[in-house]
Amino acid sequence: MTHVLHRQIGKDYPFAVCGEGVHIYDATGKQYIDASGGAAVSCLGHGHREVIDAMKAQLDKIEFAHTSFFTTPALEELADELAAHAPAGLDHTFFVSGGSEAIEAAIKLARQSAVESGQPQRRHLIARRQSYHGITFGALAIGGRPSAKRDFSPLLIETHHVSPVYEYRDRHAGETPEAYGERLAQELEAKINELGGDNVLAFIAETVVGATLGAAPPVPGYFKRVRQICDQYGVLLILDEVMCGMGRTGTLHACEQDGVAPDLMAIAKGLGGGFMPIGALMLSAKIFNIIAKGSGAFQHSHTYTGHPLACAAALAVQRIIRRDNLLANVRTQGARLSRRLQERFGNHPFVGDVRGRGLFQGVEIVADRGTKEPFDPARKLHARIKQEAMARGLMVYPMGGTKDGKSGDHVLMAPPFISDNDTIDQIVERLGEAIDTAI
Ligand code: PLP
Repeated sequence: MTHVLHRQIGKDYPFAVCGEGVHIYDATGKQYIDASGGAAVSCLGHGHREVIDAMKAQLDKIEFAHTSFFTTPALEELADELAAHAPAGLDHTFFVSGGSEAIEAAIKLARQSAVESGQPQRRHLIARRQSYHGITFGALAIGGRPSAKRDFSPLLIETHHVSPVYEYRDRHAGETPEAYGERLAQELEAKINELGGDNVLAFIAETVVGATLGAAPPVPGYFKRVRQICDQYGVLLILDEVMCGMGRTGTLHACEQDGVAPDLMAIAKGLGGGFMPIGALMLSAKIFNIIAKGSGAFQHSHTYTGHPLACAAALAVQRIIRRDNLLANVRTQGARLSRRLQERFGNHPFVGDVRGRGLFQGVEIVADRGTKEPFDPARKLHARIKQEAMARGLMVYPMGGTKDGKSGDHVLMAPPFISDNDTIDQIVERLGEAIDTAI
């Protein structure tokens, strides 16, 4: 009997005992291709010797120094590294231990900066439906997946939601992607006006939607218009790049491809590549200056903020990605993964859409390609696909469709940046078998 409260009680999880490159091995010696990077975490794959050596070197110096007393070289160097390659103006970083914490910090810093700039009436948060921003109370509240909130909603802060960019289902026939993006931007503007432009604190969105929509990218021009609207009403733009950021889409930050810089940006997963839990909130000089000239302190901190070992691990991961030019490989292998998925599923009777950016790709499963009708969520097809994939030595990240039929089951892939042709081809072959068997 296990004493762990596992994610699913009563389920038999294989023991992961070692990892090397794109593979994880269980206690029976079975090999799995980590085609989801866990949950878009393991960007360098597993067991990277140089990262491990950098972590050992940090441990030989100091394992922990509380940030109310000290800073450390690892913390300062990681912040410098991020600032050197940040979207315009995001030159300061607050470190945390994961994605949800980064989102909590974003909400609180947004609010504190509004109060300290003389706008305490700004309190409304606008997010998007079918989004996931984390599991803690603030992050859960802004998320747009009602099933995740069901038991907790009486305890959550109020949030307002607008439509996500979900081209496959929501772009009208004959509507150009640009016109669709404009329609969504106008929906945001209407929501801001409904709440009163001066009362809205922030708009938050994933640049490319991960877990809840299976790598759904924005349409051209959408974020530029969102940026304009936010500026017009003094609303802060918070981008959640916890999953899609840090190189996953082929540029260090996904928003680079949309030509926008947010006021606040949450990053995590690929930042430390799974070698240590680490996340961060990057903030604009504008927000930094409001706090610096105001109270002089962000009213928020965790014991493990800026943990030296986590920072040393993340620094090593980021330097290796840059030194080995791995973002070029993300673009090359991302294009291959997209192509192979199109070849395998382009005419598949139960795959309605293949989408994504870089090594962040998804497929949506439907009962009927013509009508896009999803399978009944009660079938839990996504769970069966996961099981069949694991049986074939493949880790992918499937999620069920919504109960209202507004999205189908989908499968998210986020393989390591070191993936080669053979890895990509194996992923698609095994996924094809898993989907066919599960259906
Ligand atoms: N934001 C996004 C877009 C995510 O995908 C996730 C996790 O999957 C989070 C926030 C929360 O991150 P964490 O699980 O590290 O708390």
